[in-house]
Amino acid sequence: MSTLSSFDPPPEQTERLLSKVGELVEELVTTAASRPVLGNPSGSELVPGLLDQRPGQEPAEIEAILQQIREILATGVDNAASGELAYIPGSGLLTSALGDLIASIANRYTGLAGFSPAAVALELGVLRWLTELFGLPERAQGLLLSGGSAANLTAIVTAREMHAPDQVQRATIYTGAHAHASVRKAARIAGVPNGQVRVCGSSDGLRLDSRAVEVRIKQDLEDGLLPVAIVGAAGTTNTGAIDPLPALADLAAELGIWFHVDAAYGGFFVLSDRGRERLRGIERADSITLDPHKSLFLPFGTGALLVAERNHLALAFAEESDYLRDHSQDLDALPDFSSITTELTREWRGLRLWLPLQLHGEAAFREALDDKLDLAEHAWRELDADANLETLGAPDLSVVTFRVRGDDALQDALLARVHEDQRVRLSTTVIDGRVVLRLVALSHRTTREIVDLAIRLIREAAQELVADH
Ligand SMILES: *Cc1c(COP(=O)(O)O)cnc(C)c1O
Repeated sequence: MSTLSSFDPPPEQTERLLSKVGELVEELVTTAASRPVLGNPSGSELVPGLLDQRPGQEPAEIEAILQQIREILATGVDNAASGELAYIPGSGLLTSALGDLIASIANRYTGLAGFSPAAVALELGVLRWLTELFGLPERAQGLLLSGGSAANLTAIVTAREMHAPDQVQRATIYTGAHAHASVRKAARIAGVPNGQVRVCGSSDGLRLDSRAVEVRIKQDLEDGLLPVAIVGAAGTTNTGAIDPLPALADLAAELGIWFHVDAAYGGFFVLSDRGRERLRGIERADSITLDPHKSLFLPFGTGALLVAERNHLALAFAEESDYLRDHSQDLDALPDFSSITTELTREWRGLRLWLPLQLHGEAAFREALDDKLDLAEHAWRELDADANLETLGAPDLSVVTFRVRGDDALQDALLARVHEDQRVRLSTTVIDGRVVLRLVALSHRTTREIVDLAIRLIREAAQELVADH
């Protein structure tokens, strides 16, 4: 009865394993603020050996295994370090990882609510916190998925089922030039013909113009096409710009089509008063993509989709399965995640979001995000005031975009100069055909100190480059 499987270590060994792993975890957390983001060897010298590595027939020692993991972690770009200001960093909260550990070991099945109603209810509770936070109606449903791409795909498939069932060849989707690539990818996977994803114009070069969308939709309607969805961005990845959500919501409502807001980067700024004001109109979306692994600091692997009407998800994803016939579903009580997503078996994903919210409290996240807005504003003021630099305007959220005065090559040169220091990482993008530099404040580890260091390095590099030119 009480015999442990040989895969289940006895208590002393479990304790030893946890303590050894715990040492590495502690090391990673406590050194994150001081580790340089750049400057590690690339790790390419480890690649051939790793590709050829095969499991031995006999057990290996945990010390040797952890040593190997340490060697891997000493290479590559350390995007969890505090100087990651380049892409949209996922800093990875310890408290979330602890939730994963418990969820994996308990390994409760959450694809069907009936198996473990309380475990599913914990996840549904944290999802309700989300739908309420975004002002969605009571019939709204949240889902935790692997990331923003999975959330955008789930949204587009749902919109297609609502507005072009069995007629995807005629379906059209409307979005802006700065829409994330995952929106186009989602449309393609959903079967929308490539030429029917309409990239609509912008009056300021950064934000979608609702008039341009309207003109395009009316033309498509005249041509016998089936407009399915308008996709607005609540914080583009390029510049953090927020599309005119109220005007897009009006248009979608008037035409009776789906309004999806891709808030993968910017959504959680709704926690702060300033962010909430700037994201006004998001509450009128039919669906919202969020990425807790970006603006809620969670480890990679957590995206979320909020849908204003739960039944729309069921329409898109519910299937009957003979072998699950004992488990009837009652959509009005606890929904089965398997009936409202592409997944059947899934981890108890809720815990990785619920645990950090419980342990830190909502206010900690509000204050941290508010602080990121301050840091971005501070960086923008400092860079904008420098005669050698020009910015693309005050940031809507926490992405600051700027150029050193000069041609595109000078932008790349500035990036290279700043990166020589190795403590901060920036990135570039192309806007209106010109190379632009980006500084993003979004890691929970991004502090005033690191932003000031970045500002100093940028200004020094700009001065040298302009002088040399
Ligand atoms: C990051 C991002 C995505 C994609 O999300 P993943 O989690 O990387 O799949 C989609 N949209 C926007 C606006 C993003 O910033």
